[in-house]
Amino acid sequence: MNSEQREQNAMRELHSHESLTGLPTKSEFLSDLESALNMTAQGRASFIVLFINLDGFRSVNESLGYEIGDQLLYEVGHRLRSAMRPQDIVAHFGADEFMVLAHNVSSLQGIDSIIQRVQRSISSPYSLGDELLTFSASTGVVINSGNYNAPDEIIRDGSIAVHQAKTLGKARHQIFDISMYQQAMLQLGMEGDLRRAIEEDEFVLHYQPFISLETQEIVGFEALIRWDRPGYGIVMPQDFISVAEKNGLIVPIGNWVLRQGCKQLGEWSRQYPEKNLHLGINVASPQISQSDVVGELTKLLHKHQLDAQKIELEITESGIIDNPVAASDVMNALKQLGVQLSIDDFGAGYSSLSQLYRFAFDILKIDRLFISQLCDHYDSSIVFVEAIIQLAKNLGMRVVAEGIENEEQFRKLNEMGCDIGQGYLFSKPMPHDEVVKLLESNQCVAT
Ligand code: C2E
Ligand code: MG
Ligand code: MG
Repeated sequence: MNSEQREQNAMRELHSHESLTGLPTKSEFLSDLESALNMTAQGRASFIVLFINLDGFRSVNESLGYEIGDQLLYEVGHRLRSAMRPQDIVAHFGADEFMVLAHNVSSLQGIDSIIQRVQRSISSPYSLGDELLTFSASTGVVINSGNYNAPDEIIRDGSIAVHQAKTLGKARHQIFDISMYQQAMLQLGMEGDLRRAIEEDEFVLHYQPFISLETQEIVGFEALIRWDRPGYGIVMPQDFISVAEKNGLIVPIGNWVLRQGCKQLGEWSRQYPEKNLHLGINVASPQISQSDVVGELTKLLHKHQLDAQKIELEITESGIIDNPVAASDVMNALKQLGVQLSIDDFGAGYSSLSQLYRFAFDILKIDRLFISQLCDHYDSSIVFVEAIIQLAKNLGMRVVAEGIENEEQFRKLNEMGCDIGQGYLFSKPMPHDEVVKLLESNQCVAT
C-alpha cells in the first residue's frame, strides 16, 4: 500500500463510523454513560460496560479489502444489537471497537450470561464476499456499583481490561479489578525508565545457591535480576522482564546480566577456587535470536579467565520453540564455546521432549510446580518427577529441582536420584555480600 492509499484509508476510517453500523457513536455513548453514572449516584441500580474488540480485524481489511471490512463491522454491530435487551446501549466506538452498556446487572451470573451472549453472537460464521469466516472478540468488562465518578475512569479501566484479555490470548473476556490498574500504573512509563535503568546502573543481581542433594554442599548459584526503580523500590523480574522482551530492551539488559554475572563468577573463582562454583544465567529468547550472545560470551570468558563449563545458560522451552531454526545455530555455537545449556522450568507450559534431544541440553531444571506437589497425597506428581529424572539421566543430563521448600520434597528428590536442588529450604536469592559471608563461613546451607 503506498502512502496516498494509506492516507485515504485513514480518512475513510475517520469518516466511516458514524453511518457504517447505524449505532450510536463514541460521543453519544459517552453522554449516555454520564447519564448512567448520574443515575447510580442517585442510588439507582448498577450497570456494566463491555469493551468489545474484534480479534484479527486488521487482517480482514488487509487481505479482503475495506468493503468486506465494512460489511463485517456492520454485521457485528447488528448482531450485538440483537443480542442485547432494548434498554441496553450498543455503540460503535471506532474501527473494530464496540461498547455495550447494560443496566440493572447485579449478579455475577447476570454478567456471565451477557458475556456469553456477546461471544456467541460474534462467533457464528459470517458470509463475506465468497468466504465463510469466523471471528472472535476480546472483551473487557467494567462493573460499576457506585465506584466510578466520570466516564473517563470507566474508559481507562475498560481499556486496561480489554488489553489484558488480548494479551492473555484473545477470544476471552477479562473483568477489570484494581490489581490490573496497579499493574498498568507500574508499567506506565516503564519503557523509558527501563532504558534509563541500564545507564543509571539500577539493576542488581541476587544469587540463589545450587545445592548438591547428596553432599548438601553449595555447587553454584543462579543469578536473578532485580531492578531498584527510583520511586518504586525493588521491582521483581516478573514485573519487567516481559515488558523488556516485548520492546527489545531485554537484549541490552540480558547483556548486562551476562557481563555482571561473568565478572562475579570470575571474582568468586579466584577467591574460592576449591569450591568449583558454577553460575546459572537466565537467557531470554530474543537474546538467542536477535543478539550476538556467542560473541558477547566469548569476550567475557576471555576477559574474566573463566572456564566456559562453569557457565550454565538457562533457557526456557518457549524461548526455543519461538524460533527453532535461529535457535539451533546459536545453541550449536554455544556448545562449541563449551558453556553448559540448561533447560529451565521444564514441564511448565508447552513441553516438547524432542527439544531435549535436538539441542543436547546438559542440564534439566524441573519446574517448581511439580516439586510443590511432591507429597504423599499427590502420587501422580511423584511418578511424573521420577519419570523426568529417569529420562534426563538416560539422555546424560544432570537434573536440578527448582523450588524445594520442605524436607519431605528434599528427601524424595534425593531418593529419586535428583542431583541438585534450589529453593527456599536452603536459601532465598541473596545479594552479593551475603553470598560472600556464606562462602566465608564455609558452611553448607542449613537444611
Ligand atoms: P527462574 O529462572 O525459574 O528462577 C527461579 C525463580 O523461582 C526465582 O524467582 C526464585 O526466586 C524463585 N524461587 C526459588 N526457590 C523458590 C522456592 O523455594 N519457592 C518459591 N516460591 N520460589 C522460589 P525470581 O527471582 O522472581 O525470578 C523469576 C523469573 O524471572 C526467573 O525464573 C526467570 O525466568 C526470570 N529472570 C530472573 N532473572 C532474569 C534475568 O537475568 N534474565 C532473564 N531473561 N530472566 C530472568
Ligand atoms: Mg532460571
Ligand atoms: Mg526456573
